Amino acid sequence: MSFPRVAAGTLAAAACAVVLARAQVGEVRTVAPDVYFHEGDIKGKGHCNNGWVVFQDYVLVIDANFPSGAREIIPKIRALTSKPIRFAFDTHHHGDHAYGNQVWVDEGAIPVAHTGVLEEMKKYEPALFGGGPGRWESTAKEREDVRTSKLKAPTVLFPDMLIFDDGVHRVELHHFGVAHTHGDGFAWLPKEKILFTGDACVNGPYNYVADGNIGEWIRTLDRARALGAQVVGPGHGPLGDATVLADQQLFFQELYRVVTAAAKGKNPAQVQESVVGMRAELGANARIARYLGDGFAGQVGKAYNEITGRSFPDRRAEADAERRHRGSHHDDGTPDAAGHAGHPN
Ligand SMILES: [Zn+2]
Repeated sequence: MSFPRVAAGTLAAAACAVVLARAQVGEVRTVAPDVYFHEGDIKGKGHCNNGWVVFQDYVLVIDANFPSGAREIIPKIRALTSKPIRFAFDTHHHGDHAYGNQVWVDEGAIPVAHTGVLEEMKKYEPALFGGGPGRWESTAKEREDVRTSKLKAPTVLFPDMLIFDDGVHRVELHHFGVAHTHGDGFAWLPKEKILFTGDACVNGPYNYVADGNIGEWIRTLDRARALGAQVVGPGHGPLGDATVLADQQLFFQELYRVVTAAAKGKNPAQVQESVVGMRAELGANARIARYLGDGFAGQVGKAYNEITGRSFPDRRAEADAERRHRGSHHDDGTPDAAGHAGHPN
């Protein structure tokens, strides 16, 4: 069946009304006609959020998730449409967003990503390119869904922008610069004013910063905010509106501000000792308190390193953040035998 062209304002208004209702984890939400959002279970399964758009002839899925996350999503898409799932867009290379690629390929889809995702995979997944074990092999030790699948790199790549447009729906995949990684892509629906961000924007204490650059992240979020999104589907945490993008950016701006101030006239150990005070200061800001989690000390360490070029003497907080942010969630607090904390989400 075909759909009439609908005025952009109507679609955007419909989208906004949906956002007002708080969704449950694992529940499919209709964000706008043919546009869906699904909040993944990050705490229990390490899953990311997904979005999908039902075009006239095919379905485009936003994020491949872990293999188990992909297998959870596919029946939920199938319950809504029998159209073929043609494309799975990896917003970045992390396991909970890209390790499900093979599952989508088996379903007939093609993994699509910014060129930086392939570059990141060459760096972190050497086994795929004839080298030794990398993050996939490390994760496979702890996740059966990874162990029983295989890593598949995206095979359709775009440098800055890729457009899907069938006259009814338009989805633009954009790269706006370094943020959470060096290959972050956004999915922008200009008619409905919906933006899917991957982990370049999250809605809760899920920022893993070690693979990106916080300073550049702030500027990349400027470009994302300039789109004028009314609905924001973050990489983790609940669906939101434009304030999620603004709050995410403010969290990093405030982090940079307090770390810059603390770094003046102090040595690295003294700055590290003031992490508790920084947490209290940022936690007093209602707009950004939800971004403070177990990874905060690691985020301070990364910001400090970017601002001063120096590292904290005790890097355990950063290692802990890395371990926590990977797909499997161990609570024993100990890094693996190699002293390396595994890989992040
Ligand atoms: Zn990530």
